[in-house]
Amino acid sequence: MNSRPVRRFFVETWGCQMNELDSQRMAGQLMQLGILPVREPREADLILLNSCSVRERAEQKVYSRLGAYRRLRRERDEPLFIGLCGCVAQQEGERALARVPDLDFVLGPARVGELREVLARRLAGERVVATGFPRDRRFDLDAVARDGAHKGMVTVIEGCDKRCTFCIVPSTRGPERCRPLAEILAEVRHLLAYGFAEIELLGQTVNHWRDPERGLDFADLLDAVAELPGVRRLRFVTSYPRDFTPRMVERLGRHRNICPYLHLPVQSGSDAVLRRMGRGYDVASYLELAAAVRAARPGIAISTDFIAGFPGETEAEFEETLALVERVRFDAIFAFCYSPRPGTAALRLGSEVPGAVAEARLQRLLRLQDGIQRELNEGRVGAVEEVVVTGWGREPGWLAGRTPCHRIVHFPAGATPARPGEIVTLRLERALAHSLLGSEPLPSGASAPVPAAAVPGPRSTLHP
Ligand code: SF4
Repeated sequence: MNSRPVRRFFVETWGCQMNELDSQRMAGQLMQLGILPVREPREADLILLNSCSVRERAEQKVYSRLGAYRRLRRERDEPLFIGLCGCVAQQEGERALARVPDLDFVLGPARVGELREVLARRLAGERVVATGFPRDRRFDLDAVARDGAHKGMVTVIEGCDKRCTFCIVPSTRGPERCRPLAEILAEVRHLLAYGFAEIELLGQTVNHWRDPERGLDFADLLDAVAELPGVRRLRFVTSYPRDFTPRMVERLGRHRNICPYLHLPVQSGSDAVLRRMGRGYDVASYLELAAAVRAARPGIAISTDFIAGFPGETEAEFEETLALVERVRFDAIFAFCYSPRPGTAALRLGSEVPGAVAEARLQRLLRLQDGIQRELNEGRVGAVEEVVVTGWGREPGWLAGRTPCHRIVHFPAGATPARPGEIVTLRLERALAHSLLGSEPLPSGASAPVPAAAVPGPRSTLHP
């Protein structure tokens, strides 16, 4: 084992926002050691593959990427360390070291805060497997390399205690654990001090957050964060429908700096399928919730997730899903074919839907949604919106950004391009299926809507 210190790292990230934030946490720890990020794996002497195991194909792809990195290592003279992180790391543990004989370490998502120690042990010659769920998980606020200036992500709840029969997350991310309110607010203030325009609260079931000490719930958390001076846009993901209470619905209407966008995964439009999935709600209650949310916050965008071809899904049950899509008219959907995952209860259900049938259903669902989405986007043409700049756009000289409803907008940057994180006002000029094209940013003040943060809700007494 060569003990030459590691100087440059590259992180490849798959999966959800939780993984995105974990990558930022790992990058922050390395940068505190003076190890710098690079854009290309070939420039690095440490590669971290932050993996996702939600779907089978993503997991297979992770192993194929590890193979590519090992080939890269064979081609060079200098040492290259490779670490497998994320949910596949948790799931595979020692097996990953056996399957990939020259893998340097395996680091599960609940052990991300231990990267520095794991690296030190590896440099001392040990092949390390750090997985499992220690009671005392670490959140180092000062060791997060915040990537992108437009959105500061804050974990409020980790893991999941629900047992949806298709889902591997409870075994890869462990039992639910909530961060105390004071710690969350400290991190949000830290992000505001650094000028982040948008705060995004993260959790697998974000709205199941409870303050471990003070008996507060997610509605109280929304109050506390939305009322912090300087929060211009507040988002949260992912909400579990059954846990979305009337108090939370009311907060969507009360706090105008909460973005008018709610991701509310439904998974199926059939009660029978929802029962087999163990979701704990039915279609009627989901529809009631969606209606309440829209009444509380007119114009709010609702997006959702679907699984096509869940075990036993009949044609009639799938058509109930199509009917739900037509009825709710979601602003966006994230839909995938059912993917069997190790250790999940759905494996025991039998009655697998053939892959080709599931794929054909998925395509029908996506086509239906494309038409709806295009119509919804066309309805926005002519509107003047505030767009937070997220980066470069679809062609040279263009920028991309997100409206408060999370719609993607591409627009000409103009003579003085706005920087990522800045909020510009522009007119939406053309609708595409998945995005909109906008005008150049309008002069400040021109036809701009009232800034969301200028309409504060009643104050609460939650600030510590
Ligand atoms: S709520 Fe269900 S789908 Fe979501 S992470 Fe937990 S088990 Fe998985």
